[in-house]
Formats: sequence, structure tokens, C-alpha cells
Amino acid sequence: MILIKPSFEIVTPINGEEILKHIELAARTCYKSEGKIKYGILFPALTEEDEHCKPQIEDGYAESARVLIPKLIERGHFAMLEFGGMIHVKFICDRGVSHELVRHRLASFAQESTRFCNYGDDKDITYIVPYWFKHQTIEDFLRLESQYVFADTNDKQESIEIHWYEAMQTSEECYQVMILNGASPQEARSVLPNSLKTEINMSCNLREWREVFKQRTAEAAHPQMRELMRPLLDEFKKRIPIIFDDINY
Ligand SMILES: Cc1cc2nc3c(=O)[nH]c(=O)nc-3n(C[C@H](O)[C@H](O)[C@H](O)COP(=O)(O)OP(=O)(O)OC[C@H]3O[C@@H](n4cnc5c(N)ncnc54)[C@H](O)[C@@H]3O)c2cc1C
Repeated sequence: MILIKPSFEIVTPINGEEILKHIELAARTCYKSEGKIKYGILFPALTEEDEHCKPQIEDGYAESARVLIPKLIERGHFAMLEFGGMIHVKFICDRGVSHELVRHRLASFAQESTRFCNYGDDKDITYIVPYWFKHQTIEDFLRLESQYVFADTNDKQESIEIHWYEAMQTSEECYQVMILNGASPQEARSVLPNSLKTEINMSCNLREWREVFKQRTAEAAHPQMRELMRPLLDEFKKRIPIIFDDINY
């Protein structure tokens, strides 16, 4: 068994200034105000956080877009954000979180298949350990397991964690025995739990990413979804000016 933490990778190369320019061009066509488009030549004063934007800002700072786009967002003219293009993110998370991601209907997905990937034949199965567990590594759980059996702990959190660990062990053992006895991966997968590690690519436009962030960074979202989406939103804000600034958690 392998235990890991979830993670994400923004796959699409992002040029925030270009994104703003595309959105502005589309929106100004509606209002026939293309004459107001202005690209700055001089650098704005950059904060430490913006330092990584410097090369793209050198290519032309989207000056007038910074005035227009907040107004579009305020008025609900979100269709213009669709001209900012698609952004592809690859997540490594558990199957519970991935089930929630795929509910977003305006996104495209490509996910590791439990029908075709074989986790048997003595291979370790990888699980995502919930971040609120005190125990995070196999060594932690082995230590807990030995103490738990002999000391009969009354600690409810420890009891939760040891039961989770034992469920993962059981599912791994059962899956492997099923495969050894001739079951195909698509048959044996029925014993795999929500905590199974999965890799899922998600691609959608900026308008849909806004919707995803609003729902999935909020307090009501599942804690393991928030664990991924909050740092991802922070990263989007760093790389793409303005578009996500009104979404806060
Ligand atoms: C806190 C929380 C709890 C949840 N609990 C459950 C649960 O218990 N059970 C469950 O089944 N699901 C649950 N969900 C999932 C939820 O029902 C949605 O399927 C998921 O959040 C996707 O949201 P969406 O449909 O608004 O967005 P998307 O599919 O991402 O679509 C984006 C936006 O496009 C528009 N849109 C998309 N499709 C249509 C359409 N057909 N008609 C009109 N407008 C459309 C809407 O404005 C929508 O907000 C939960 C979600 C959250 C955030």
C-alpha cells in the first residue's frame, strides 16, 4: 500500500496579459469601443507576488482591459470571459473528489480508468490519505496499529484512522486475490474504495473555472475538495490578473 497527498498541476501555459487582451477585444466589439484599447509600455509597479508576470507584462501590459473587465464581471456579462480560452489542470486526488469534479458539465475530462488499469499482481495500491488525519504515513499507521491492538485506545480520532487504514488494507488484499484468481481489473475494481488515488485531467474555460471555484472553495464544499481548490484558485489569481479577484474563501 502507498499513501500520498493530493496535488494538482496547471498544464496549460498561461499568459495572463494575452488572456485579458482576448477578452477585451471580444467585449469591445459589442460596445464598438475598440478605440479605447490601450496596451501599456511601461511597467506598472509590481508587487513581490506579481514578479513572475514580469516577462509577459514586458510584452504589453493590458492596461485598458483592467478597467473594462471588472465592469463586465460586475454586470454579469460573463460570456466575454469565454474568450480567454481553456485551461487544463491535472489533479491527483481520491475517487470521491473526482466524482464531484465530473459533475461540472461544461468541462472536459480524462481520467485514469479502473476498468483498464491493473492494480493487482503484487503491485501496491495507492490511496489518498485524508489531510485531517493525524497519521499520514504507512509508518504512522503501523505504529498506531500496534498500539491500538494492545492498548485498546479510547481516542475516537485514532479509532477512525485505524479503521480507515484497515479498510484500505482489506481492499488491497481482496483486489489482489481476485486478480490472482483470474478476475479482470474491471471486475475486481468493485472492492476499491473512494480513497483510491486517481489522476484526472480537467479542462474548461475561465467562466466555468469561476463557477467551479465559487462552489468548490466555499465552506460548504467537501474538505478534501477545498484542500485542492483553494490553493489552485490562489495560483490562478497569481497567473491571471482580475478574472478571479472577486472570488474569495
Ligand atoms: C456543497 C455541495 C453539495 C453537493 N451535494 C450534492 C448531493 O448531495 N448530490 C448530488 O447529486 N450533487 C451534489 N452536488 C453537486 C451539484 O448538484 C452539481 O452537480 C455540481 O456542483 C455542479 O454544479 P452546476 O450544475 O451548478 O455547475 P456546472 O455543471 O459546472 O455548470 C456550470 C453552470 O452552467 C449552468 N448550467 C449547466 N448546465 C445547465 C443546465 N442543464 N441548465 C441550466 N443551466 C445549466 C449553470 O449556471 C451552472 O451553474 C453538490 C455540490 C456542492 C458544491
